[in-house]
Amino acid sequence: MPDQALHILRSVFGYDQFRPPQDEVVAHLVAGGDSLVLMPTGGGKSLCYQIPALVRFGTGIVVSPLIALMQDQVAALLQAGVRAAFLNSSQRADESRRVEAQFRAGELDLLYLAPERLLLDRTLEMLDGPPLALFAIDEAHCVSQWGHDFRPEYLQLAVLRERFPGVPRIALTATADERTRAEIVDKLSLTDARLFISSFDRPNIRYRIHEGQGNVREQLLRFIRDEHPGEAGIVYCLSRQKTADLAEWLTEKGVPALPYHAGLSNDVRARHQARFIGEEGLVMVATIAFGMGIDKPNVRFVAHLSLPKSVEAYYQETGRAGRDGLPADAWMSYGLQDVIMLRQMLAESGAGEAHKRVERHKLDAMLGLCELTGCRRQALLAYFGETLPQPCGNCDTCLNPPETWDASVVAQKALSCVHRTGQRFGVMYLVDVLLGKDDERIRRFGHDRISTFGIGAELDAKGWRGVFRQLIARGLLAVDVDGHGGLHLTDACRPVLKGEEPLWLRRESAAPAAKRARAGKAAKSPAARIAAADFSSPEDQELWTALRALRMELARAQNVPPYVIFHDATLAEMVRRRPRTLEELGALSGIGERKLAAFGEQFLALVQAHHA
Ligand code: ADP
Ligand code: ZN
Repeated sequence: MPDQALHILRSVFGYDQFRPPQDEVVAHLVAGGDSLVLMPTGGGKSLCYQIPALVRFGTGIVVSPLIALMQDQVAALLQAGVRAAFLNSSQRADESRRVEAQFRAGELDLLYLAPERLLLDRTLEMLDGPPLALFAIDEAHCVSQWGHDFRPEYLQLAVLRERFPGVPRIALTATADERTRAEIVDKLSLTDARLFISSFDRPNIRYRIHEGQGNVREQLLRFIRDEHPGEAGIVYCLSRQKTADLAEWLTEKGVPALPYHAGLSNDVRARHQARFIGEEGLVMVATIAFGMGIDKPNVRFVAHLSLPKSVEAYYQETGRAGRDGLPADAWMSYGLQDVIMLRQMLAESGAGEAHKRVERHKLDAMLGLCELTGCRRQALLAYFGETLPQPCGNCDTCLNPPETWDASVVAQKALSCVHRTGQRFGVMYLVDVLLGKDDERIRRFGHDRISTFGIGAELDAKGWRGVFRQLIARGLLAVDVDGHGGLHLTDACRPVLKGEEPLWLRRESAAPAAKRARAGKAAKSPAARIAAADFSSPEDQELWTALRALRMELARAQNVPPYVIFHDATLAEMVRRRPRTLEELGALSGIGERKLAAFGEQFLALVQAHHA
């Protein structure tokens, strides 16, 4: 059996080897066992059920929550020569009748269904007929009532076990936490299922987090222009208005961008999403409403212009970059305002106290990740209970270790100033007091006569704001709940305030311009990593562009996204290896027999035409 699976992996999908634990999952499922698979985005979950569906007798039924996602998957499978189809509400009646007939005739290897469709009596009856190879329940975390992707219909999927006892089930998700996992097992009655967990590391993603000083928009623009010109990316913003403004501004600056947020009509959103998927080099500026079900593999960067609410959210959103395994960037800029605003939003929310406490811890963990001086990836993985023994070498703190400085005295001054002014003023006011500013308000409150007035000459206003941000982030200061941004001391600050404990803080980047110049030389950007490392010559670059153009032409003709024809990684291999025969071409990763037959000649001719 495993031999057959490996043969299918090679001949149909064009890949050489399974990525662990794919091989084990496939063997277990082929043998008829139930399983729960936890794998990060881009880990390769789809093959875990697609290949067993081809090996086992009958049709594999895939439950998938999003129409766009199933359409993409089916399109990709058809290109690979797999007999796949979907049934969903976007279809015309005659189309679904045709698919049903195919299924009844045993002509489908894989049938994709939305859960609500599957649960219709009519559908369940249909499934009673022909032999079924397996049930795959994709995005299985949708059963979780606590997660933000909750789908009530998922709860009813437990019916599959009773109704089709002999058919093995596999549930898959990229959501890693214990509680969700337990809920999936419980709600889908997967108590006997074998659990497969792979590492959640995404080594190709470079994590970069910095305090947004100065003009964040300009920094983003420079980042895209310098490192990802002409490439696809997602920029996350907090508000709808910002999203719309930024998309317009980027477009004006020559970076084609579209907005996506809950305030746009369904129609506009669907159109923007379709363009993002179907075109190359488009940037989506979005609120968190955008993302689930985007399996565009060559999203080269995800940028955050504000702080995510939790490490889970950060991980999930950044995880949309680089699904194809090629270098990608997770770039984030955040500031004092974000911290204060998120803390306030939390305090003002109508949630119960216990819930708020959980959310507060989550936000604190996210801030901790931002202010970290060690390896980001080690901390990120540790958060999910995984240990990375060595610093990763592919995050900003590894590439440019931040300097730290003994901020004990400075912190004492800041904390003491909060204390002496009565624990009710915001950062701006406190900084003014520390700097001894001549200000009517300060005089009115008599704060020009307290001991901390004017004792902060060692830092400028920006420096002091950085110190306050870090003190808040570390929980030594807390933001008031009333919405005015007043700060008060926490218990955690006592040892520092009393001078019993030293405090080391990150040194804030002094002159952003100078730092960038250094960073630019030290670390190759992902674009440079693809373009320069692999395509050092203009000829290579030219061939790459030509291959992408051919791919786009073929994709347009068939009305599918370009990556359904070939992935970037496969085109890059063509440039690097310069295959001379169809056989050599077919040996490249990602080219199965069907694709070789369909597109081989055209791509080969193009490679040949570019032979120097
Ligand atoms: P997930 O659903 O876990 O996010 P996918 O199933 O979409 O991930 O796979 C991510 C990418 O990895 C796809 O481009 C897929 O073709 C590729 N991939 C999966 N398994 C392998 C493998 N064994 N060898 C090479 N590429 C693979
Ligand atoms: Zn690192």
